[in-house]
Amino acid sequence: MLNRRRKLYEGKAKIIYEGPEPGTVIQYFKDDATAFNAQKHDVISGKGILNNRIAAHLMTRLESIGIPTHFIKSLNMREQLVRSVEIVPVEVVVRNIAAGSLAKRLGLKEGTPLPRPLIEFYYKNDELGDPMVNDDHIMAMGWADPYELEEMISMAFRANDYLNGLFAGINLQLVDFKIEFGRIFGEYGDVYIVLADEISPDTCRLWDAQTNEKLDKDRFRLDLGGLVEAYQEVAVRLGLIPREGIIKEGDFNEELAAQLETIENEMAGRTNIRSIKRMRAKKGTPVV
Ligand code: UDP
Repeated sequence: MLNRRRKLYEGKAKIIYEGPEPGTVIQYFKDDATAFNAQKHDVISGKGILNNRIAAHLMTRLESIGIPTHFIKSLNMREQLVRSVEIVPVEVVVRNIAAGSLAKRLGLKEGTPLPRPLIEFYYKNDELGDPMVNDDHIMAMGWADPYELEEMISMAFRANDYLNGLFAGINLQLVDFKIEFGRIFGEYGDVYIVLADEISPDTCRLWDAQTNEKLDKDRFRLDLGGLVEAYQEVAVRLGLIPREGIIKEGDFNEELAAQLETIENEMAGRTNIRSIKRMRAKKGTPVV
């Protein structure tokens, strides 16, 4: 089945295949874990299944508050149908609590709450190690125009507010997260910006609110072990899988997983996405 489909792009944690209809692609979640610009790599059985489910759920929730996303529906344990977009080559990071590269750069103690959420941009370029850039770099280089950037910033802060509340409700602190955006082109040269890629414990820092235990990819980055168990805990708290879990000691409970409901974005394509009338900015990374 997989071999018959045309592979459009393979990234570190996902593969993009041609979709069943024009304007769609299939996003396949791999079990690969990478960190430090892929210098560290491992395959962690079951990670893709959990991320697929968590990402599908979070995208659907964000769409429900009016943030347009690429997500259409989950297809099976590892795949989701999404709208084909042109990825804006900028990673947008929102931070609530100092950790990771911010703590290091500014000499802050990890865990220090920030006076207010802040936003950072990184140019998506593996060869350069995703360097941090500012809004002026983004506009000067034509990676996004001012209207697109404004839209991205406002969606990022809205997503942060919503996700903060959602995670607080299940006893998790949203320390920081990374999101990506894509362009969809309308019939009349109109352009829409939508949330794309994934939001999952691979792209967020999530700490238990009581114990500060890390339930995200830092378990892999820092060699803490228990990555799948941590991701599973996030999925359980989100109500996406039963408490007994679907993966135990690397073994995957097919029977339980097969009973899980598929996640569908009822609002897909119906959210009132805002057209950005503008000159076309320079093309971003192709496909996805
Ligand atoms: N992040 C990501 N992909 C990247 C870089 C960062 O998903 O290529 C996420 C990371 O998981 C964290 C947030 O963005 O939730 C901020 O990461 P940071 O800049 O602290 O970098 P890191 O410590 O991951 O190198």
